[in-house]
Amino acid sequence: MHALKDYESVVGAEIVEELRLLSEKTKGLKVQNVNSTAVGGGVAEILNRMVPLLRELEVDARWDVIKGGEKFFKVTKKFHNALHGKAEEIGPNDFSVFLETSEMNNRSLELAGDILVIHDPQPIALIQQKNKLNAKWIWRCHIDVSQPDERVWNFLRPFMDRYDGSVFSAPSFSQELPIRQFLISPSIDPLSDKNKELSEETVRGILEKFQIDPEKPLVTQVSRFDYLKDPLGVIEAFERVQKNVDCQLVLVGGEASDDPESVEVLARVRERAAGNPDVHVLAIPSGSDLEINALQRGSTVIVQKSIREGFGLTVTEALWKAKPVVASAVGGITLQISHKYSGLLCRSVEGAAYAIKQVLQNPEYGKRLGENGREQVRQNFLLTRHLRDYLLLFLALSHEGDIVRF
Ligand code: UDP
Repeated sequence: MHALKDYESVVGAEIVEELRLLSEKTKGLKVQNVNSTAVGGGVAEILNRMVPLLRELEVDARWDVIKGGEKFFKVTKKFHNALHGKAEEIGPNDFSVFLETSEMNNRSLELAGDILVIHDPQPIALIQQKNKLNAKWIWRCHIDVSQPDERVWNFLRPFMDRYDGSVFSAPSFSQELPIRQFLISPSIDPLSDKNKELSEETVRGILEKFQIDPEKPLVTQVSRFDYLKDPLGVIEAFERVQKNVDCQLVLVGGEASDDPESVEVLARVRERAAGNPDVHVLAIPSGSDLEINALQRGSTVIVQKSIREGFGLTVTEALWKAKPVVASAVGGITLQISHKYSGLLCRSVEGAAYAIKQVLQNPEYGKRLGENGREQVRQNFLLTRHLRDYLLLFLALSHEGDIVRF
């Protein structure tokens, strides 16, 4: 695990010094994070890196995970999709399952701290313990809830409204709420195994391990196997590209333990890819960070053809590796990519195919897009900026109504 000092070589000593100065004011604060999975997906990815560094800054940070059975996670997956605006069949039984598991977690999960940061809808009902603790409660919503399914939204609202504040990743993701709102975009850790520099031999070795030809142009999408990531659409776009350019596709994903749908999606993707030897479908265990890093670095183009997206950390990771990225103009992707400057945005299978072809046929253009993308991430989406925002949030919460002097 890296120490803060190590980040100086990436972001400069001043940024790290600023964090230390700020942390003088937040020293000793007890902050508990709660989410629904320890592995898989963007939230776990961030907490994994953030919590140790907060501790180095002497914030007494911890991270806990709620428990739930398959039934509960099926329901919360439907809620997740519905909050993103996807049509889902949701009945009264789903709400009962959610409430029952929430009650069980309310009985068994020990909560303590000055600030509780509850991530996403799955653990939202922990707020029912609000009166037991003298703490500030934050609901950290990583989803774009700008056009939610009304039933799910209305069901969750009474919980949401009891929080002291909410955090969204972007202004366009949120809704009018009676509680304070903070805007904090996510980040990646440039020194993690997922993002650190790798030698060419390492990259090559890993590609070969997966039977990918290191000499042939490679198009990659890294994503949980989820319909909202549109893996089938990626294959369709790729097959259009293949008609003009000899290239290969990798769809790599794992299974998030809170996502039962992924098994079904993976089976459909495998079925669709069968018969095309240039399409590699890789289901690899979570925590395969070096492998993901190498696959991203070994790619010629990275695709993220999501139908809906939260922030889209896979895009951040690819941009940081100075890769040309072709991605849907949804969710946080539009915050990361300025079209034709730091990547290419698309809105359809045809659009994705056209953009992928453009980059494959014009490597110089791809290189320019990638370099601009990397700069965009350096300035806005690295972990050090995220830590600063969290420290400022903690300060703002512990000085409510006061003037906060930095
Ligand atoms: N990821 C991974 N292995 C996989 C698929 C995804 O490590 O097989 C990581 C990916 O590199 C990224 C995160 O999971 O860091 C996904 O975050 P994102 O915001 O893109 O999507 P989410 O899964 O949260 O919808």
